[in-house]
Amino acid sequence: MNQAIAENIRNIEAELPDQVMLVAVTKYHNVEETQAVVDAGVYNLGENKVQDLMAKQEQISGPVRWHFIGHLQSNKVKYLIGNVVLIHSVHSLKLLKTIEKESAKKNTVTNILLQFNLAKEDTKSGFMAEDFNAVLDQAAQYSHVNLQGLMAIGPMTKNTDEIRKIFKQLKRMYDTMKQEYLDGKNDVHYLSMGMTDDYPIAVEEGSSIVRIGRKIFKCKE
Ligand SMILES: *Cc1c(COP(=O)(O)O)cnc(C)c1O
Repeated sequence: MNQAIAENIRNIEAELPDQVMLVAVTKYHNVEETQAVVDAGVYNLGENKVQDLMAKQEQISGPVRWHFIGHLQSNKVKYLIGNVVLIHSVHSLKLLKTIEKESAKKNTVTNILLQFNLAKEDTKSGFMAEDFNAVLDQAAQYSHVNLQGLMAIGPMTKNTDEIRKIFKQLKRMYDTMKQEYLDGKNDVHYLSMGMTDDYPIAVEEGSSIVRIGRKIFKCKE
């Protein structure tokens, strides 16, 4: 299994442009498999449950940079502050405010992305496109939140035109944000989109972080 993991990673890295960051999504995988990813040289790891992330932080060795990518409840924010390099999945003003408050308490600044649900899928969290300006205005008021970009999960469809349309829309919003947020004096440089099934499209549309799980762990029969 560990050899398959290393080989899968090499194959993915070989086709990713240099400037695109690979976040290995290790949710559903035990400590040994997660350690195999780190040993294969991938240090950006994504988890979607606060408890799993904390448990693995204790057990995995290496210079890991932990990314939180899952649905985050406000009451769990305090556990992440100071322990992750980036929270990809900020989906509400309430959550944004909590991250500000908890970061201030610890006298630190937390890097975040805003998650958008552009296909308006019931099963996904995220802001609506209409919320864009209001969210940016709110984030600009906060000094313990460092807004670094946008994130989306591609729509659940096999229709690649639909998927591409959503990624294009997020890229346009990202470009606007880069120019306008804090009058352009910002730290916006991450566009997190693309998973196992749709990352080639996401990369074509300008993604700078892909979050890949299944393709890393799949075993050849
Ligand atoms: C699970 C997950 C991924 C990885 O998905 P795969 O299809 O396994 O590549 C990426 N992003 C988020 C938010 C996830 O929950």
